[in-house]
Amino acid sequence: MTAQLIDGNALSKQLRTEVATRAQALKAQGVKPGLAVVLVGDNPASQVYVRNKVKACEDSGLHSVLEKYEATMTEADLLARVEALNNDPAIHGILVQLPLPAHIDAQKVIEAISPAKDVDGFHIASAGALMTGMPGFWPCTPYGCMKMLDSIGYDLRGKHAVVIGRSNIVGKPMALMLLQKDATVTVAHSRTQNLKALTLQADVIVAAVGKRNVLTADMVKPGAVVLDVGMNRNDEGKLCGDVDFDGVKEVAGYITPVPGGVGPMTITMLLVNTLEAAERASK
Ligand code: NAP
Repeated sequence: MTAQLIDGNALSKQLRTEVATRAQALKAQGVKPGLAVVLVGDNPASQVYVRNKVKACEDSGLHSVLEKYEATMTEADLLARVEALNNDPAIHGILVQLPLPAHIDAQKVIEAISPAKDVDGFHIASAGALMTGMPGFWPCTPYGCMKMLDSIGYDLRGKHAVVIGRSNIVGKPMALMLLQKDATVTVAHSRTQNLKALTLQADVIVAAVGKRNVLTADMVKPGAVVLDVGMNRNDEGKLCGDVDFDGVKEVAGYITPVPGGVGPMTITMLLVNTLEAAERASK
């Protein structure tokens, strides 16, 4: 293996220790940072995600509330809960776990969250803040990727970054964050022609597609930094990313593994955002 591993578990541990220290400082001022996680329905993957988020809060000394509702909950009732949490001074961050049942308009619910408590960074005000370089909450997954680049001291100025995927929660905000750090950014998607020609020019590649082997060794410039956001299952049912890890690690300069890469960073950045929300509210 030539590539150095960017270890998301180790970096998360370090960042979560910092969160715990800052949370203690806030508590000394009488403020306990609090996150409300709202789950509607019984999607098994969502249940695991929310459990992990609540546990991560507890481990870092943050207050957390898990609100679980039946899949039959009405949109009006959910909007009323969000409004109550907006007005609850013990809650600094609100996360409504997606996907929501089909009868609920997810965007409407996200827009109902106060931007000051939008720790997922999905509110249109948060997206606008990111786009214009104003203070706001950054979506946790691409924010975690930026922290991973920071952790290796990577200077993005003038570098060519290729982001594969253009979703509102990963690809687009990732591209904006890289642009903010003066990278030259190319965004690829399902209609992109000759992806390999683009990735071969890239100093940094972020794969956020949700398909195995989207990025293989022949598509990577020697020494490039490769961040793998994808979460897929291989033929044995094991978690894997979008990147052919075994091949690409022989060419890249740095690479994130799956599992143990971007995944743990996502929850860590949720804690960071929640802490930040509490710090801002206490000023
Ligand atoms: P998404 O909304 O499905 O977006 C996937 C993107 O990939 C779309 O923009 C799509 O293009 C593009 N795409 C599809 N096939 C492609 C191809 N062959 N070549 C290039 N681009 C292609 O997914 P997402 O929510 O962004 O998530 C992406 C992956 O990251 C998933 O595996 C997800 O599970 C994972 N994820 C991981 C974390 C984490 O914490 N590690 C967090 C969030 C997501 P079009 O726009 O043209 O359709």
